[in-house]
Amino acid sequence: MEIVKENGPITGEHIADKLNLTRATLRPDLAILTMAGYLDARPRVGYFYTGKTGIQLLADKLKKLVVKDYQSMPVVVHENVSVYDAIVTIFLEDVGTLFVTDDNHHLAGVLSRKDLLRASLGKQELSTLPVNIIMTRMPNITMCKKEDLLIDVAKKLIDVQIDAVPVVKETDSGYEVIGRLTKTNITKAFVALGDQGEKLT
Ligand code: ADP
Repeated sequence: MEIVKENGPITGEHIADKLNLTRATLRPDLAILTMAGYLDARPRVGYFYTGKTGIQLLADKLKKLVVKDYQSMPVVVHENVSVYDAIVTIFLEDVGTLFVTDDNHHLAGVLSRKDLLRASLGKQELSTLPVNIIMTRMPNITMCKKEDLLIDVAKKLIDVQIDAVPVVKETDSGYEVIGRLTKTNITKAFVALGDQGEKLT
């Protein structure tokens, strides 16, 4: 990196000369530095120093992560399902948030753990109380699209103080639920970024 910083743009061959190494020996190292973003390579020009710090490079990487690579399968219930059945579904499917759809399979609402706990505190009969009475309903649903940036969805989760958003596809008549993006998905992305960094050092 020092050599490139002082002499760039410089060809791989010239760098190898300066280090008394062969081009082939140097190739994997240059590939790693280029992949990590510290150096850039232009064909027939050579390597040059990008001037980016580690934290800038990490931010660049983070801003390239998109929802579709990290989303999970959505767990969906119909709006007429009882609160009792929704609670059973949350346990069986091992999720914290359910998405609620209407007869047209369009997004109608969201049910969180606390929504279900709150309903359970009341005197109502849970097996006859439909979830559409207690859910957070459209149009007050925060959602995202599969091509959205993960960082933007993470900011939304913080701003609105929620654990999950449905990944939706907009149609003429409503929103179709195609995925689920949760704090867990974002934590996994965070860990994957950290692991990538380890591989490069
Ligand atoms: P919990 O209630 O288990 O803490 P959340 O923080 O996700 O879970 O939910 C808080 C409240 O926000 C609940 O009333 C829930 O219905 C609502 N909510 C959850 N996700 C969304 C969403 N994507 N859009 C709008 N409201 C939501």
